[in-house]
Amino acid sequence: MTFKIALIRGDGIGPEVVGEAVKVMETIGKRFGHQFEFVDILMGGCAIDAVGTSYPDGTAEKCKACDAVLLGAVGGPKWGHATQPEKRPETALLSIRKDLGLYANLRPAALRPALSQACPLKKETADRGIDLMIVRELTGGIYFGKRERYQTEDRGEEASDRMAYSELEIERIGRRAFELARLRRGKLASVDKANVLETSRLWRQVMHRLAEEYSDVAYEDVLVDNAAMQLVRDPGQFDVVVTENMFGDILSDEASMITGSIGLLPSASIGDQAPGLYEPIHGSAPDIAGQDKANPIATILSVAMMFRYSFQLAAEADAIEQAVDAVLNEGWRTADIAGPGEPAIGTIQMGELIRSKLK
Ligand code: NAD
Repeated sequence: MTFKIALIRGDGIGPEVVGEAVKVMETIGKRFGHQFEFVDILMGGCAIDAVGTSYPDGTAEKCKACDAVLLGAVGGPKWGHATQPEKRPETALLSIRKDLGLYANLRPAALRPALSQACPLKKETADRGIDLMIVRELTGGIYFGKRERYQTEDRGEEASDRMAYSELEIERIGRRAFELARLRRGKLASVDKANVLETSRLWRQVMHRLAEEYSDVAYEDVLVDNAAMQLVRDPGQFDVVVTENMFGDILSDEASMITGSIGLLPSASIGDQAPGLYEPIHGSAPDIAGQDKANPIATILSVAMMFRYSFQLAAEADAIEQAVDAVLNEGWRTADIAGPGEPAIGTIQMGELIRSKLK
């Protein structure tokens, strides 16, 4: 089969980690008989430098002509002080998610067995294993509601952010989460704040309706404050966790911390139509850019997610994940995951080792 993949290499370590992921795809292509066509797309700080805007005209259209998008990372201190939106790299991230209709953000947090000592939780907690997937609603809620600032008569300035969710928005993310739970261990926790928020009460009502339809999935409601506690007390209890935008933003970062390094974690953002967007959860790491120090594993595992969720290539995705585990099991580490006194290898060597397991 032939797949067309948009590559947004971006800034900082983005080009280095995407470069290794591309080589992994080429190796998979040879082994499994697929063709990959790559289309380079300029976005982020590098686009500001080249054409004066972080999100050049036609970016979304070029992506839509592809089967999937792989993004390295965008941003860096060079562009950190700009005030006009088109001169800010983050503007491009919000624009592309909106233009591609990417309403579901999938954030797996799995403790890779070879790295269980990197887990900051108690040893017995880590030993029970952590393998969960947070499904975060990405295009609704308080981050997209009306923002206001106004002067009051007696309380100084006041600000407000509106949080709204419709049944349609809740149902489509809910369906994604139930379907994913079916593909995994068949458990779904829906996180809300239904004891306080009306949006959460609607959220819960829709989720309960879906739970009846997906009666083969073991469903539970969890209040967000309890979810934050349970994630550090006993994360092994969770399989798929679905939640709204802001709760998901916070909980997914919490979940990533318990697995060790951000250099290891992939993510996917998907909508109802192709292309989905796949990216490591880390940023452009300007402090180590261009030094062959970045861990390429998060980006390589993002490719595995792309194969699994956009292309339904489960065997290819499994092969990549197993290759990563095999290299880690042999003790190879980049600097971010090396223990004290442990030798570290660079981005390129890590990529080569993973590919050697795929041949
Ligand atoms: P960061 O994730 O770039 O870096 C945080 C720390 O983790 C740094 O010490 C960095 O060296 C390290 N790190 C990150 N990825 C690593 C990897 N693959 N291997 C080894 N070490 C790694 O976060 P930050 O410093 O807050 O942000 C830097 C820039 O990235 C900012 O401009 C920010 O806006 C941008 N950013 C972009 C995205 C994105 O493109 N999706 C996401 C987050 C941050």
